[in-house]
Amino acid sequence: MIKENIEQVREKIAAACRRAGRDPKEVTLIAVSKTKPVSDIYEAMETGIVDFGENKVQELTEKYETIAQPLNWHMIGHLQRNKVKYIVDKVKLIHSVDSLRLAEQISKEAVKKNVEVDILIEVNVAEEESKFGMDTEETAQLIQDISTLPGIHIRGLMTVAPYTDDPEDNRVYFKNLKQLAVDIERKNIDNVTMSVLSMGMTGDYEVAIEEGATLVRVGTGIFGSRNYHKGD
Ligand SMILES: *Cc1c(COP(=O)(O)O)cnc(C)c1O
Repeated sequence: MIKENIEQVREKIAAACRRAGRDPKEVTLIAVSKTKPVSDIYEAMETGIVDFGENKVQELTEKYETIAQPLNWHMIGHLQRNKVKYIVDKVKLIHSVDSLRLAEQISKEAVKKNVEVDILIEVNVAEEESKFGMDTEETAQLIQDISTLPGIHIRGLMTVAPYTDDPEDNRVYFKNLKQLAVDIERKNIDNVTMSVLSMGMTGDYEVAIEEGATLVRVGTGIFGSRNYHKGD
């Protein structure tokens, strides 16, 4: 089932790219494997997927250690500062940076481990109370402040759009994130690029691609619905 799902998602990505006049090579599919066993990851790997997303530090490091092949691990969930040290040398990209204090911690651990860490700034474009992420207005200042830290590089922006039955509802948020990236790019801040836009999940990745997503994070659309244990 996983292979068929990935095939379908890839077709939809290609179709969305055609509609938007974009090259499908600009869009990377991240398979969000949170709560799923490594056997599911192996199955996805057989179709050529090398980018996987996790939202919990412990689960990410366990899977990282279990799977021998080099993969691109994406930290997409809220990150606590005391857990940064476990992942800085393991992840391809941290999508969920939303404060200077967290960025300072990543920088500190990166310097200590002598690695360079790529990050995205998480923006709460829909300004939902329940969500993590920076307010749009504060994002540019945060980026200025982070840009001077050693060992850390801002590559773009990420957002989690509201849950909705109609993906068209989220088009405006994706447009706004893209516009924010364009505005920040124009500031030409040293050590900052806006080449990555991480937006779009199972329910809305096609719309996100039409609006400029370069990374889409698809979980249930690939692995099926998640079984959360009590206490998660
Ligand atoms: C779980 C998760 C996803 C994947 O969600 P689906 O709706 O299952 O595709 C994407 N992004 C983040 C930040 C997530 O936590």
